[in-house]
Amino acid sequence: MEIFDVAIVGGGPAGSSCAAFCALAGLRTLVLEREKFPREKVCGDCLNPSCWPLLERLGVARRIRDLPHSKLASVEFIAIDGHKVIVDLPAGDDCEFSVKRSLFDNLLLRRARDLGAQVHEETTVMALANSPESIRDWKIETAAAESFSARALIGADGRNSTVARLCNLLPHPARERVALQAHIPLPRNFGERVVLQFLRQGYSGQAPVNETELNLCLVGAPPTISGLRQWAERHFEIPADQPWRTIAPLTRSPVSCAHENLFFIGDAARVVEPFTGEGIYYALRSGELAANAITKIIRGEDRQLALREFARVYAEMYKGRLWINRLARAAVLAPRVASVFVRAAQIQPAILRLLTEKIVY
Ligand SMILES: Cc1cc2nc3c(=O)[nH]c(=O)nc-3n(C[C@H](O)[C@H](O)[C@H](O)COP(=O)(O)OP(=O)(O)OC[C@H]3O[C@@H](n4cnc5c(N)ncnc54)[C@H](O)[C@@H]3O)c2cc1C
Repeated sequence: MEIFDVAIVGGGPAGSSCAAFCALAGLRTLVLEREKFPREKVCGDCLNPSCWPLLERLGVARRIRDLPHSKLASVEFIAIDGHKVIVDLPAGDDCEFSVKRSLFDNLLLRRARDLGAQVHEETTVMALANSPESIRDWKIETAAAESFSARALIGADGRNSTVARLCNLLPHPARERVALQAHIPLPRNFGERVVLQFLRQGYSGQAPVNETELNLCLVGAPPTISGLRQWAERHFEIPADQPWRTIAPLTRSPVSCAHENLFFIGDAARVVEPFTGEGIYYALRSGELAANAITKIIRGEDRQLALREFARVYAEMYKGRLWINRLARAAVLAPRVASVFVRAAQIQPAILRLLTEKIVY
């Protein structure tokens, strides 16, 4: 049986980024993805400007810019009572950008394949074991009873990571909130803005993703989510049979990113508050960092040194940013308090400008 240098479970931004960088480094790379791409995903569809240098290094920035998209010029915070504060976003080529995940993720996965990664879609990983050839290698089994062997394994399979669960590493989810998401017709004159709107039951994120569609996200606790959906139906005049995608949990403890020959990247390692719109950046960057570490290990460099260095640069990626995430979470768990904050920012807009800059610059 062929032994891959690295097997990556999950072909979202984290898995595709890692696969592309591993393939670029000449590693025998395998990606196992449950879905058939292109597929949509519960997400606000917004790319933080810090993604651009990574997309350049992946060699896809131009092709991403050529996809149907919207450039986002400002973020508008709306308090429960309707008070608004508008904060400008960076302009130019490296701006905040929205693109449907079906298009974005498909392009990244294709890039990994073009660079030489072997990609298996509609392939769900169900079990893990030691390889019969070597106790150090992994044997990965799928729902279709196929099996693959690899020297290193990457969990890039999102917030409910099967790899973490099979390794007894998945923390108990906090069952406090759930997200709904849909693409709906773009309201006339919506403009080039992201809207973050606090509501009594939670919050809503809205962003145009092309010339005709709006990404609409609703986040709330399970008992209030139907109230949020009814608000959206009235506010955007959408039919009651509008299909919504859903995901939970929105919060859970992180999983350690570096183990002996096992790595976790993207949401599988750490879930961030959707409100901050940073998850895709962390997914892409952690994929690149893991690829660097695995390349060193496969080339015979000191494993422990490579693991320590990976854990260090991985932690550095979040440095100075997690407090924003905590603040965002506190704000969305208490929309009334957040609304008071938005009203205060009407008088002193520098507060929100500073927070927004922390996230998007
Ligand atoms: C409501 C909401 C809004 C958000 N808005 C934004 C935003 O605007 N901007 C932003 O940057 N981030 C946003 N995020 C976060 C962002 O969606 C995630 O951080 C990002 O998708 C993480 O990428 P990933 O590759 O780690 O995981 P995912 O994108 O979840 O990809 C994981 C992949 O693994 C596959 N998989 C799962 N299990 C298996 C298995 N057993 N076998 C094989 N394959 C498997 C899945 O099919 C999936 O394709 C939002 C999140 C939510 C919930």
